[in-house]
Amino acid sequence: MAKDVDALRSAVRARGLRATPSRIAVLELLRVESAPMSHGDVADRLASQAWDRATIYRNLIDLSEVGLARRTDVGDHVWRFEAVADGHESAHPHFVCTECGTVECLPDLELTVRRARAPRAIRQRQVEVHVRGLCDACS
Ligand SMILES: [Zn+2]
Ligand SMILES: [Zn+2]
Repeated sequence: MAKDVDALRSAVRARGLRATPSRIAVLELLRVESAPMSHGDVADRLASQAWDRATIYRNLIDLSEVGLARRTDVGDHVWRFEAVADGHESAHPHFVCTECGTVECLPDLELTVRRARAPRAIRQRQVEVHVRGLCDACS
């Protein structure tokens, strides 16, 4: 456990950020969770700590800016954040439940482009892919 925290501290420092306790806790939480979390989700989970919500938001933005996290908007105008294991990992598609709004990662789903004339953003994978339908609990 302590070793993991050390690894998080070095990852944060290697990207030029100070390894503050709140920043480390935010990154640790994102790495443990398997689905992207909104600022509200993160703040609720860390509510037992004394950090205010603005600090937690700032940490999420900082971690995203240095590539340790990624933010995504699945179409409901809420930023959700998830950890990026290695800074060069490309974005994966997300599944969004049209009934309850649950968001799940789909790391194994690959976007394949067969047409050469697709927009450059698609060819360079600079797009976000969201798949919509009913989740297991709602179907
Ligand atoms: Zn659902
Ligand atoms: Zn994801």
